[in-house]
Amino acid sequence: MMHYDLIVIGSGPAGEKGAAKAAYYGKKVAVVERASYLGGTGLNTGTIPSKTLRETALYFSGLKQRGLYGIDYSLKQGLTVSHLMHREAQVIETERCIVEENLRRHAIELIRGDAYFLDASTICLRETGERITADTFLLATGSTPYHPPGIPIDHQTIYDSDSILRMDSIPSSLLVLGAGVVGIEYASLFAALDVQVTVVDVRDAILPMLDNEIRDRLQRYLEELGVKFSLGKRYSSVSVSDGSVRVELEDGGLLRAEKALFAAGRRACTSGMGLEEVGVQISSRGEVQVNDRFETTVKGIYAAGDVIGRPGLASFAMEQARMAMIYALNLEYRESCSSVMPFAIYAIPELSMAGLTEEECKRQGIEYAVGRALYRNNPRGQIIGDETGMLKLVFRRSDRIVIGVHIIGELASELIHLGAEAISYQRPLDSFLSAVYNYPTLTDLYKYAAYDGLGVLERNS
Ligand SMILES: Cc1cc2nc3c(=O)[nH]c(=O)nc-3n(C[C@H](O)[C@H](O)[C@H](O)COP(=O)(O)OP(=O)(O)OC[C@H]3O[C@@H](n4cnc5c(N)ncnc54)[C@H](O)[C@@H]3O)c2cc1C
Repeated sequence: MMHYDLIVIGSGPAGEKGAAKAAYYGKKVAVVERASYLGGTGLNTGTIPSKTLRETALYFSGLKQRGLYGIDYSLKQGLTVSHLMHREAQVIETERCIVEENLRRHAIELIRGDAYFLDASTICLRETGERITADTFLLATGSTPYHPPGIPIDHQTIYDSDSILRMDSIPSSLLVLGAGVVGIEYASLFAALDVQVTVVDVRDAILPMLDNEIRDRLQRYLEELGVKFSLGKRYSSVSVSDGSVRVELEDGGLLRAEKALFAAGRRACTSGMGLEEVGVQISSRGEVQVNDRFETTVKGIYAAGDVIGRPGLASFAMEQARMAMIYALNLEYRESCSSVMPFAIYAIPELSMAGLTEEECKRQGIEYAVGRALYRNNPRGQIIGDETGMLKLVFRRSDRIVIGVHIIGELASELIHLGAEAISYQRPLDSFLSAVYNYPTLTDLYKYAAYDGLGVLERNS
């Protein structure tokens, strides 16, 4: 029977990075993967494909160029799904090779199979019955789309976030059920392709984690793009009739569209793994319970990524897995990761945030002020034609320390890191003023938001 220092179950972002960390420090590591491809949701159906499709949609729609060159750019005529998917397939293939190469470079053994636990130190592969033992395990089995009863997700008319990538034609209309990150990303992507999109959610606001001002800006932009919102409404039935989707609302309303995307939630992959039988505690939502060292209720079995629940992001999954391995293998070179975790939403336009929103400051009784800079007043913003973008700094009045950064606009997910670092190292607004940035750049928005913030303080003093 093969024995390893560490067995990682799952080759998604958490599994790959956790395995690499342990192997880098000389441990004998194996990754077990049941899918025929490496990379998990992150690479195959979630993060990478949706971001690639976003770029493809922007390219074919000409949305970024409209109005920029005095030419009327519009959607490419006769656009087909295979046009859309061409680039996605290339990127995924390359990324899969990169993961494979990373495992190879770290001398990590890749074992194909569906793993379940026999006891706290032995797993078995369902297909072959082979048993493998290890001193330590990392559960990185991720999540799959949640399918609630009553929603007939048939992957032909009503899709989930995995099967939407296999849509056979671009519909004329799409209902997006769920106004969370995945729902809004796909809603904006399809709207850019001139699909008539309606977003439905029982909550009365999209993306509740966003700063209100940023959310309002986003919603206005999406409405200009043609997206309709049916918020604060519960649906009583979702059905497919005559080849199209029919959603009846409890208030008597009726919504119809050619296709629908159900994008309301994911479920941790834990079933059939014998976890509870070996003592790993699972929450009522099906997520693996871990302590602050990412160790489950069984000594030596760690878990990271979507399988432990929120926030359900690849960026967090990778960092959690690295931290889990640092704790598990007593690698003492670092003790924590930054408490300031940026968060991006790759809608059109892009959004990103770190730290506190204005609303959170109010709830926590923090005396704060805000500085803003608009992309349209920034030369780089003008050059790229971003009319909606805004960078907003939230800072404490007493010492001007930056406590929140919120960005909507081109490259928001890249720009955020400078602000996140300022929050992390508790830097005041003034640090942006003394810095020198390339010109013209969007980074300069930080400087002008800081000036604006100082102006706000002076006016109110
Ligand atoms: C549409 C969409 C867009 C997203 N966009 C972003 C984004 O922009 N940024 C971001 O940070 N995150 C994004 N995410 C979230 C991100 O994809 C996940 O948080 C991330 O993939 C979680 O990584 P993971 O390693 O925990 O699990 P996964 O990526 O789900 O990988 C788990 C792996 O474990 C394998 N596995 C499961 N059970 C077993 C078993 N018993 N035996 C062997 N193998 C097993 C699976 O086959 C899979 O390969 C998005 C998700 C979706 C759905």
